[in-house]
Amino acid sequence: MSFDLTDKLVWVAGQHGMVGRAMMRRLEREPCALLLDPGRTAVDLRRQSEVEDWMAAQRPRIAFLTAGRVGGMYANDAFPADFLYDNLLIEANIIHAAYRTGVEKLLFFGSSCIYPRDAPQPIPEAALLTGPLERTNEAYAVAKIAGIKLCQAYRRQHGCDFISAMPTNLYGPGDNFHPETSHVPAALLRRFHEAKMARAAEVVVWGSGTPRREFLYVDDLADAGIHLLRHYSGESHINIGAGYDVTIAEFAEHIKRCVGFEGRIVYDRSRPDGTPRKLLDSRRIQALGWSATTPLDEGLKRYYDWFLSNQGKLRETVIEAATSK
Ligand code: GDP
Repeated sequence: MSFDLTDKLVWVAGQHGMVGRAMMRRLEREPCALLLDPGRTAVDLRRQSEVEDWMAAQRPRIAFLTAGRVGGMYANDAFPADFLYDNLLIEANIIHAAYRTGVEKLLFFGSSCIYPRDAPQPIPEAALLTGPLERTNEAYAVAKIAGIKLCQAYRRQHGCDFISAMPTNLYGPGDNFHPETSHVPAALLRRFHEAKMARAAEVVVWGSGTPRREFLYVDDLADAGIHLLRHYSGESHINIGAGYDVTIAEFAEHIKRCVGFEGRIVYDRSRPDGTPRKLLDSRRIQALGWSATTPLDEGLKRYYDWFLSNQGKLRETVIEAATSK
């Protein structure tokens, strides 16, 4: 039996972020109604009463929880209080309000950084909490682990159909292109593009180039989200990956080719590498009938086209210290 979205009111919490925007694009093809985000000035998702009042008034039947503070390794490392506090409050407020207002199904999005730094590769769902986390993104990871546990606890104690998905590293339209706080895809796409325009001789890539990462096009993730909503109701979180990884050096070569930059790549080894490898074991979602369909070069081409046609209105999230006042 698959879960039916027909005529239901759906709220994508965080619909202005990269994942939220992709979810909204994907949901437009479904026979459901979409609830617009209240906007940060009307409802601060870190304030419990504001979230509860808004959800009680709007009564969404389905919720995708994509809202949260996100950023690359530098941002995570520099602002751990913001990453922990904001993400804990946002997920606790929305999950609790979803329970109180009778949301029929909720999908919480986490991240592959929840797994131990030295987890077996590819990483199975069962690797959660089996070892120490990567230090540079520990605050974010702890918040996301708490989100998984909240979904499980509300399922056990209250019978709520709340599930969670752990996507691998993502890229796509709507990404954050801030040079310091972004993840590697946006940082490199922008740096290679700017180097090409300036006819620069070289582009700097952080670290040694040897870490391995798996990259998923964000519209594939949105498709997986709908698939899980329809076909999965269980306690365990579910990995969502592309199925293969590349080194950062190989990834930089893909971006260089996509952008058409002709200079050299140099590595700044004073910047950290982070986790040595992050490849998810996605066999569980594959067994449910879903796999990623966008090849890396095709996804990067769409990413770059989007970047070029959105010059001047790119999202650049600067994370200031102590924003969580
Ligand atoms: P992570 O997957 O959580 O470690 O997040 P990131 O996307 O920030 O970094 C992934 C990898 O890309 C790390 O090994 C970084 O050292 C490497 N990297 C190379 N150049 C950059 C860059 O300009 N920005 C970021 N954020 N990472 C970079």
